[in-house]
Amino acid sequence: MQLAPEQARKRVSELLTYFGEDPEREGLKDTPKRVINAFNELLSGYRTPMPELAVFDSSYDEMVVVSPISCISFCEHHILPILIEASIGYIPDKKVVGISKIPRLVKWCCTRLVIQENLTGQIADILNDRLNPLGVAVVLKGRHLCMEIRGVKTKSITTTSALRGAFREPVSEGLHPVDEFLKHCQESRRIT
Ligand code: ZN
Repeated sequence: MQLAPEQARKRVSELLTYFGEDPEREGLKDTPKRVINAFNELLSGYRTPMPELAVFDSSYDEMVVVSPISCISFCEHHILPILIEASIGYIPDKKVVGISKIPRLVKWCCTRLVIQENLTGQIADILNDRLNPLGVAVVLKGRHLCMEIRGVKTKSITTTSALRGAFREPVSEGLHPVDEFLKHCQESRRIT
């Protein structure tokens, strides 16, 4: 069911009443409009297409790691923020993607209601499908405010990973791609 903006604002106003507020009082008069505008921005992934992933021919065949990428998503269970730090790695197969497209893709994937586990796999699958690389690795670290500010009230970090292709396969010698990836992620904190 599609709601017109004024109907959505009315629903927010009704929620304010439900919580015991007077939505007509001075300070709250424009709150429904602001709430709808804010969530339209925060959940813009429902209305905007996935960013184009510009891909270039390249002979570079070593690992590419972009990390850390900070973003905010919202849990689908409570619509409360998840503060996310993402690390993305891939091993190209004759094609590389424009570097800035990786954070753009991650941020776009975050602008919908998610659970962290599925979000991790979704990012890996999109990169795998579009790039056809030798492997993709995605690690997300998330602080779930629904767990910090309510309920169990613990400031824990939830880590999830999705590995595809070469990152899942055993190697007979040398550093495993996963170990190389994690090493790069750690080192990327020391660039400045
Ligand atoms: Zn939640």
